[in-house]
Amino acid sequence: MSTAMTARILDFDTRELIGVSSSKSKVSAHRSQKAALHAARLNAVLQTTIELTEILQIFYQEMSSVIKIEGLNYEHKANTFEYLMGANAGHSSHYVLQTKDDYLGELSFFRKDEKFSAEELTLMEDLIGSLVYPLRNGLRYQEAIRSALTDALTGAGNRICLDNVLAREFELAQRYRQPLSLLMLDIDYFKRVNDTFGHVAGDKVLRTVAETIRTTSRCADMTFRYGGEEFVVLLNKTDMAGAKITAERLRATIAGLSCIYENQEIPITISIGVATLCGGETREDLLKRADNSLYEAKTNGRNQICAVDPNLVLN
Ligand code: GH3
Ligand code: MG
Ligand code: MG
Repeated sequence: MSTAMTARILDFDTRELIGVSSSKSKVSAHRSQKAALHAARLNAVLQTTIELTEILQIFYQEMSSVIKIEGLNYEHKANTFEYLMGANAGHSSHYVLQTKDDYLGELSFFRKDEKFSAEELTLMEDLIGSLVYPLRNGLRYQEAIRSALTDALTGAGNRICLDNVLAREFELAQRYRQPLSLLMLDIDYFKRVNDTFGHVAGDKVLRTVAETIRTTSRCADMTFRYGGEEFVVLLNKTDMAGAKITAERLRATIAGLSCIYENQEIPITISIGVATLCGGETREDLLKRADNSLYEAKTNGRNQICAVDPNLVLN
């Protein structure tokens, strides 16, 4: 099946299409009464939310009721956000959405068997105009939520984010009877790093460790800064054996790192407490057990992983 791709840049300020081979360049030039009615309705329903995914769902639903569309993909690369509804196959029409000040992402419409007609494209472009304010607000809201949940220094999730994600993963683990493991990591002798190399060097070590956890554990959105030089990694669908493998890989990778600051090599090691959720435990029990395991790893000599027996009485 052939795929027809029409690449257009839609400038929301002037409502002009840039770089289109079509004879029509002004989207609003011949706005039909039908298009005006659809746009009015779309404007009204889009005002009901500032959640980006809900905005896109509403937009897709409304567009589908006007034009036969079988798929819609929205992507904002800088925000690492992509959202697909329906199927991304067949004929497509692609739009880069921008205003003078903002890049608002890219939209692609898909239909399997039939090319979009010129009339459909005109209507489509007209209705996309209704997205500008909702989309801009949705992106700003998403960014605000993201930064409220992110640790500024390391880019890892913060404590609030951990609480939210742990609550969600705890519920999923119980509902689907899947294992859930948690790693609690602490940088060894970190105070010494600050004292020897300075605070800026210490900050660099923190960023390096966070980045290494993200790349080594392959779960960037499940890494959290728990405190000063402590991190938590959540491993869903992972039992104790799998968690120990990940923990050991992390420990070994970090011990083998070469972190250079002002031509001096800073040695880094971490200790890790490993815990897997047991029946009848609360989220707090899981965290507490990982913390106890971390304490054991520290007292046993550091630069090691440890998982205390869940049957031991916690204190
Ligand atoms: P241990 O092996 O027992 O974990 O020893 P430690 O020195 O790592 O632990 P300690 O709790 O004594 O020291 C932690 C240090 O982490 C003290 C604090 O100044 C430093 N720290 C906490 N947050 C930051 C930060 O954001 N940046 C920097 N550079 N240092 C930080
Ligand atoms: Mg500590
Ligand atoms: Mg420490």
